[in-house]
Amino acid sequence: LGLLYIVATPIGNLADMVPRAVEVLQCADLVAAEDTRHSQKLLSHFNIDSPLLAYHEHTDARRTGQILQRLEQGLTVALISDAGTPLISDPGYRLVRTARERGIRVVPIPGACAFIAALSAAGLPSDRFSFEGFLPAKGGARERALRELARDTRTLIFYEAPHRVADTLEAMAAVFGGEREAVIAREVSKAFETFQLMPLRQLASWVRADSNQQRGEIVVLVRGNERRCESALDDEAQRVMSLLLAELP
Ligand code: SAM
Repeated sequence: LGLLYIVATPIGNLADMVPRAVEVLQCADLVAAEDTRHSQKLLSHFNIDSPLLAYHEHTDARRTGQILQRLEQGLTVALISDAGTPLISDPGYRLVRTARERGIRVVPIPGACAFIAALSAAGLPSDRFSFEGFLPAKGGARERALRELARDTRTLIFYEAPHRVADTLEAMAAVFGGEREAVIAREVSKAFETFQLMPLRQLASWVRADSNQQRGEIVVLVRGNERRCESALDDEAQRVMSLLLAELP
């Protein structure tokens, strides 16, 4: 049986490519990539001439089958995405899952991941967090998703498209409260890298007022709810109160 490598690539700065990733991509019989034209540039930069194959998880079940077939023939396949770690808001899950089911060894080559880099430098609690990926694009669904997270005490991490970030921050201020701290981490590892930490309402106006903050690639991090213990106590107090009241003559 072959070997499937899951290879992280840089999220902007090519100098973040790890030597082991270069080595693995060089030796792979086949490199499966989301966008072969985009990935060709990366491979050329590192003088890698392994053959590229397009891999789109959702549109191309046949392609997954082809890759599995090559693996079963004993070839080494490396999966990369356009940026960062494959499977993190990127394709690959189906391939990894099926490969494992068929007894093929799957080996990760760790490297860049946008939300981990953002969290490591944001200045928000990092001991417990929840990575939420992309929120739904439509207003109603997005608000429902936010409401479900409103009581979560962990730092919440989102990926967001630049043309939606101002709307999203305003929706977050409305659902989580304008005082809740948040960070926008933009263009991490690139020339215009920006980190801004502010209460949500202020952050939303700051982003809305400056179109430069609505460009490039963005991670939004929101401090967890700090009032959950308080309201849990309220709930408990209410429960005890109603028990006591029921005992009164
Ligand atoms: N697999 C990638 C990873 O490991 O982070 C994420 C892929 S996802 C399709 C792309 C999103 O990641 C962007 O829309 C943005 O939210 C975030 N992202 C990627 N590169 C980034 C960067 N350099 N700075 C900030 N956010 C970034």
